[in-house]
Amino acid sequence: MRIAFIGLGNMGGGMAANLAKAGHDVRAFDLSAEALERAVKAGCLAADSAAAAAEGAEAVVTMLPAGRHVEAVYTDELFDAVDKAAVLIDCSTIDVDTAKRVAEAAAAKGLMAVDAPVSGGIGAANAGTLTFMVGGSQAAFDRAEHVLADMGKAVIHAGVSGAGQAAKICNNMLLGAEMIATCEAFLLAQKLGLDPQTFYDISSVSSGQSWSMTTYCPLPGVGPESPADRDYQGGFAAGLMLKDLRLAMEAAASANADTPMGARAAELYARYVDSGEGTRDFSGIIRMLDKAEA
Ligand code: NAD
Repeated sequence: MRIAFIGLGNMGGGMAANLAKAGHDVRAFDLSAEALERAVKAGCLAADSAAAAAEGAEAVVTMLPAGRHVEAVYTDELFDAVDKAAVLIDCSTIDVDTAKRVAEAAAAKGLMAVDAPVSGGIGAANAGTLTFMVGGSQAAFDRAEHVLADMGKAVIHAGVSGAGQAAKICNNMLLGAEMIATCEAFLLAQKLGLDPQTFYDISSVSSGQSWSMTTYCPLPGVGPESPADRDYQGGFAAGLMLKDLRLAMEAAASANADTPMGARAAELYARYVDSGEGTRDFSGIIRMLDKAEA
């Protein structure tokens, strides 16, 4: 297939490379010349603009920082450049309202569009093992699915436009709050004289068990290997967790939903990121919580 790929950063670079590796004719564009060069080395063809990449493409994939970038690229460049038969696939993590607005604008032009944010970080983007949660019509999903399958291990239809973004931020709001609760429980257990490994052995087979505990334990030396064992390097950056929590809070305000735990998690991650730890793994927040309780 001929595929346009716009946004070749940490995530998009690996994703575009996997599409090229799968045999697609990938026309790539990024504002960064360096990112574009990397994509060319990985088998993509460089385009001079997003619009030029999209001309004649059967699918267009975007992987951009935030809602304003996505809306601008689609409105100013892509909508007028693409064939009516092309499917537009935005894999960026953006706010639900912008995702819906972009899909409505696409529909008004007779174009098919889906929001398809990902779960999995840079490692999964490079390895082609992302999970995609897709919002849009069944017909649009059917067109996007095989393109996404070449970049991931799972492609799930979440519902109508915006449902992919909704699934992503609800999941990450749960993860943020759950990680903080897991950190708190380990810290309190220690202060009450419990050995962390003993608490893990008990809680990991009891009702407090969670992914944050048994797959991604925030304490070094406890549970399977995790970023805690590497001084909280790599993994999922706290700054990105904060971005997703803020998107969740915006969505909650817009849907009039009460999310007190999500709101508290957003406050605590904002404090952690403000302390200069935005690039550290999000489980590193245990250090801040430990100091706060000292
Ligand atoms: P990034 O900043 O590394 O990459 C974004 C790229 O978009 C950059 O190369 C930038 O030059 C390019 N860009 C910006 N505006 C552009 C425009 N108008 N035209 C063309 N290119 C433009 O970000 P990333 O880490 O790759 O993340 C991309 C998206 O994926 C974000 O929405 C992020 O929240 C989401 N995400 C990231 C991760 C992760 O671990 N990094 C995980 C899941 C989801």
